Amino acid sequence: MATVKDDVLNALAAVSGPDGTPLPATGKLSEIVADDGKVFFSITVDAAAVKQWESVRARAERAVRALPGVTSVMVALTAERAGGRTAERRPQMAAGAARPHAGGAPAPAGIPGVAAIIAVASGKGGVGKSTVAVNLALALRDLGLKVGILDADIYGPSMPKLLAIRDKPESAGGTRLYPIVRHGMAVMSIGFLVEEETPMIWRGPMVMSAITQMLREVEWGTLDVMVVDMPPGTGDAQLTMAQQVPLKGTVIVSTPQDLALIDARRGIAMFRRVNVPVLGIVENMSTFVCPHCGTRSDIFGHGGARHEAERLGVPFLGEVPLDIAIREKSDAGEPVVAAESDGVHAQSFRAIAARVRDGLAAEGRPAPKIVVEA
Ligand code: ADP
Repeated sequence: MATVKDDVLNALAAVSGPDGTPLPATGKLSEIVADDGKVFFSITVDAAAVKQWESVRARAERAVRALPGVTSVMVALTAERAGGRTAERRPQMAAGAARPHAGGAPAPAGIPGVAAIIAVASGKGGVGKSTVAVNLALALRDLGLKVGILDADIYGPSMPKLLAIRDKPESAGGTRLYPIVRHGMAVMSIGFLVEEETPMIWRGPMVMSAITQMLREVEWGTLDVMVVDMPPGTGDAQLTMAQQVPLKGTVIVSTPQDLALIDARRGIAMFRRVNVPVLGIVENMSTFVCPHCGTRSDIFGHGGARHEAERLGVPFLGEVPLDIAIREKSDAGEPVVAAESDGVHAQSFRAIAARVRDGLAAEGRPAPKIVVEA
């Protein structure tokens, strides 16, 4: 029986690239993700050829949209610098580091010099994803790792505010940029390049090309871990990013209550669909400790994320309490792990960071051999 993917490939065979080659034969298509009437894939081309490919992208989208049962289609056009792609891909695959991406396609090319990229994600906004991302990054740095932060939340970039960065990145020649360095970490955010008040409207393909540029056209140097603050939610943009960014794993942030957990569950399902390992869940805004009387109140409930993690078979990474100090330090541009590095919050974040580091190390190891005893 023909699958939706087969139908999509058949439809794409009628669309040709600028030189007349049918699209599936160009070698430029990513794995096709088809789920519940939604279809996503990307076409990766040399940066110099983007203009010729834009109409191909549009025709591909139309061809797939015309298929019965397809309700939405997103085709991202991703630009690679000439020559860079194959050169970057080979060593990664040779080293055995490439995990099969959705459906067995190779994982996207890594960033030279960056050992691991992890996403910090949430099913919805406002759960403290960016707060956790920046403090987790600082805590990983405290463990002795060389850390970078990529603020990929292009709809609401937080890093300029969280790290009080008002400088613009300097050019490294051509289209390349140097990241801004704060607290010993390399930081890049779309927020450094646009004014805070500028409304940002992104079409699907633009989202990916902005992220690709921040990933691949920034002089990140040598990093042990790059922490990516993802846009909230589990929509098309997030799925494409999870598919296109060479992620080693993801950390899901949720508040303890049921509604947020439903979204967190969607997030986990999304990463699993594109074969990105879920390193675990962080429960943010867990218990509230009154700064005046010390009474604990579970404003959003407590323990929900731990139960959910157990239920879904993913690690529980730890709890972060709802504490006014965390918000105040964030607002002041000095996240709590940097501002109070001996405090209780810094300690909890370092414990979370240690679990993330160990989870990453475990992902890098080959799966244990299963021996069946006779
Ligand atoms: P998201 O990235 O999920 O939209 P943010 O990290 O921007 O969320 O956090 C939303 C708001 O909640 C911010 O004002 C932040 O300072 C605050 N906040 C996040 N986590 C905590 C916490 N554990 N305790 C107190 N305030 C928090």
